[in-house]
Amino acid sequence: MGRTLNRRTIGVTFLVTALLLLMMTPGAKAAAKVRVGLSVSGSAVEIGGSGLLLDATGHVIAQVDDRSSLELTASGGQVWLSGASFPVLHAVPSRSGAGSCLQVNGKPYRGDLVVSAADNRIRIVNELDLEEYLLGVVPLEMSPSWPLEALKAQAVAARTFALRNANRHQGDGFGLCDTSHCQVYGGVSAESTTSSIAVKDTAGLVLKYNGGLIDAYFHASSGGRTETAGAAWGHDRPYLTVVEDELELSGPYASWQESFSPEELGVRLAEAGYPIGPVQQLEILERTPSGRAASVSVRGSYGTAVVAGTRLRQVLNLKSTLFNVQEDTAWSEQLKITVLAQSTKGSFVTSVASGTHVVTAGGPKILSSRTSGDVSRGGGGRAIVLKGRGYGHGVGLSQWGAKVLAENELLADKDFFTQILTHYYKGVTIEPYSF
Ligand SMILES: [Zn+2]
Repeated sequence: MGRTLNRRTIGVTFLVTALLLLMMTPGAKAAAKVRVGLSVSGSAVEIGGSGLLLDATGHVIAQVDDRSSLELTASGGQVWLSGASFPVLHAVPSRSGAGSCLQVNGKPYRGDLVVSAADNRIRIVNELDLEEYLLGVVPLEMSPSWPLEALKAQAVAARTFALRNANRHQGDGFGLCDTSHCQVYGGVSAESTTSSIAVKDTAGLVLKYNGGLIDAYFHASSGGRTETAGAAWGHDRPYLTVVEDELELSGPYASWQESFSPEELGVRLAEAGYPIGPVQQLEILERTPSGRAASVSVRGSYGTAVVAGTRLRQVLNLKSTLFNVQEDTAWSEQLKITVLAQSTKGSFVTSVASGTHVVTAGGPKILSSRTSGDVSRGGGGRAIVLKGRGYGHGVGLSQWGAKVLAENELLADKDFFTQILTHYYKGVTIEPYSF
């Protein structure tokens, strides 16, 4: 009897799983294409690998094979090959698949290449299927050594981001760039077995809210609480709210600390357009709903500035805006010497520890705390210490959070990535992008 029940339970589970899989399998429509602008600099490029070079009307201009590559150059808005010029050239691989790709300066890429010229600069757009593009994105956005369910969550977020931003660089002549401005994309050489499995296991799946693609933002570490899109960038999204993320606090960015001398803060702020002198006090005036610094009052020797938390993060290169300010008294025992430094950006005042080697016009010199003249004691030995949590803007999926969630669910079913995604993106559905 027990055995029968067991079988029935297993049968029902199998049926439900099969139905779920059917619902999640993308339709038979042609896959979406992406147009990625490759970071190629200069006026010449070498196209290698295996394929054909065609002009705009589809005539074969040249053949590319494994033994000989072609050098294309840009001049006067035209692409030049062996003395002939073309407004645009298309390179198509002779066969599909990773084994017979075209190469750009020795680096293999799936799909086609479109070569054009912007004045005397070569421009290369890699046109390929969205799913093939993701194979070269996911391993660069999340370590392939991380749990598969976390990689699957990353794959769905990256796919959603790519479709939602497919025309972000329309004015530049392509769709997405290959840097962190859009998503880091490295072509075939970036691909890794585990992340490719994550892309294939989630093929076609995207995140939607009220039937539309979401802004699938992600970041390295939430520090225990995610941020709303409104607080970070001024445009709220109902699915990007504050999410409690305590599990995340076991990650490497659970806490961080940065110490600054008053002079160092003064110099950094002056370079950013706030000439208020050595900084005496930092005070958080306002916090966002997740507890991040929204605005900070910075009091210097010559004035006070109110700086947005996100701006201060840029200026001081902080890991996040989730921080507290304190004054470190232990630090005051270190002797600091204020020196006038000359750099390519001009001259400014900075401080160094006593005993530091500096190179002067008269050669290397060790500074002692008793040195006088052009070198003097300064800063009062105080430090302003920022103690914080998390890494990144904090909006949407936390990558370290996804990793910890997946690690804590070792016996999780193979669709656990959906739970990771709905933890970070509230009220969303996960469905194929075409039916
Ligand atoms: Zn971009």
